[in-house]
Amino acid sequence: MKTFERPLRATHHCRHYSYETSLQGRGPLCALGIDLSGAGSAGPCMPSATARTSLCDKRADYTDDERATWKTFLDADIERLGRAVQALPKPIPLRTSGKVACPNCDGEIHYSRWHRGAELKCSTENCCGARFHIEAGKDWPQP
Ligand SMILES: [Zn+2]
Repeated sequence: MKTFERPLRATHHCRHYSYETSLQGRGPLCALGIDLSGAGSAGPCMPSATARTSLCDKRADYTDDERATWKTFLDADIERLGRAVQALPKPIPLRTSGKVACPNCDGEIHYSRWHRGAELKCSTENCCGARFHIEAGKDWPQP
């Protein structure tokens, strides 16, 4: 069975930074526990922060190798998503859902279509999935 391993999400933010759902709601979090709840306090975590402007002496960036591995995963993810869209009925009738064999793996793509939107997701973890905004009155995917 084919699997898709999701590598470390190596962005240009500080590696301690994440934006997660917490018990209090969504917000920026620091893996080292630095309080980011104040306005602007996450500034030093941002991609645009530089050594000159950063006030956080704990900032640690991802390595170029980690970023390259993440980009390779993202590029492959986009290719899988494109193949998945091609496997769908064209167009998907409004207010319907269904499933088709995934062209990327042994799983199934579950899809649904509603007014102004559609969603697909493969049953295999990390294979592919997305939500799409679709203009009213348009067929999707295009035949
Ligand atoms: Zn799949």
